[in-house]
Amino acid sequence: MAVAQTVAATMRRWFDTTTQVPGEREGRIDWLRASPFVAMHLACLWVFSVGVSATALWVAAIAYAVRMFALTAFYHRYFSHRTFRASRTVQFVFALIGAACVQRGPLWWAAHHRDHHRHTETARDPHSPRVHGFLWSHAGWFLTPAAFRTNLARVPDFAQYRELRWLDRFDTAVPVLFAIALYAAGALLERYAPGLHTNGPQLLVWGFFVSTVVLFHATVTINSLAHRFGRRRFDTRDDSRNNAWLALITFGEGWHNNHHFFPGTVRQGFRWWEIDLSYYVLRAMAAVGLVRDLKPVPAWVLARAKAP
Ligand SMILES: [Zn+2]
Ligand SMILES: [Zn+2]
Repeated sequence: MAVAQTVAATMRRWFDTTTQVPGEREGRIDWLRASPFVAMHLACLWVFSVGVSATALWVAAIAYAVRMFALTAFYHRYFSHRTFRASRTVQFVFALIGAACVQRGPLWWAAHHRDHHRHTETARDPHSPRVHGFLWSHAGWFLTPAAFRTNLARVPDFAQYRELRWLDRFDTAVPVLFAIALYAAGALLERYAPGLHTNGPQLLVWGFFVSTVVLFHATVTINSLAHRFGRRRFDTRDDSRNNAWLALITFGEGWHNNHHFFPGTVRQGFRWWEIDLSYYVLRAMAAVGLVRDLKPVPAWVLARAKAP
């Protein structure tokens, strides 16, 4: 009976992140709770049966780009670090797109990320390659009960918004609806635009499963690889690095040593040659009034840099 209750509660937690599961072990991976994460990876193998088309690849790339932007510009630079300002509507729209990344809700993401900066490379850092090992920092830590809860005390500034608390609780609904929408769009295209050579299953597999799994691994390279490989421009107490390759695939997040030295700016590429796509898009959004008060890099920060 106890087992049945635990299983039922774990499955309920897939959809309601506030569900308490009795008797769970805090620091161990909960494989039942993590099974959708594993299944998402296995679902990518469907590419061999659904085939591929230019349409499917475009949809996958656009789904990656839009969601990566929502993650780095909003989940990270806005909700975690408040490096610019946005209206309540804009904040919610990008929180919704961020939730479609299957990286949980904006409050959960920001609360854990603030812990990462506050306790970097100590036992209280949720994902330190130095303390917990490389694999754990990449894809282990968030599959444990200890990491399931959102510590609202860490994000009081955004927890005050009812709609964000709701989204944080039921974030799973967003990617589920997104996946259904992709399937429906593929089915419609098959019927009304057969020249595009796609269908429902193909757009679901490429636009959702493949795109989301690549998006996930690209994001968490910043927790793993960007604390191991690259240059250190600033003498921070952590192991953060600047890595141009990671900056390209994550739209600027790879300038991670810059970011750990001074997280209070909207920019992560501090020099003009440090490509930071999210920053350029935010500049464009500021120009048309969608966001405002982008915090610059102070001169004293650049003065502390080692060459180049
Ligand atoms: Zn870091
Ligand atoms: Zn950060």
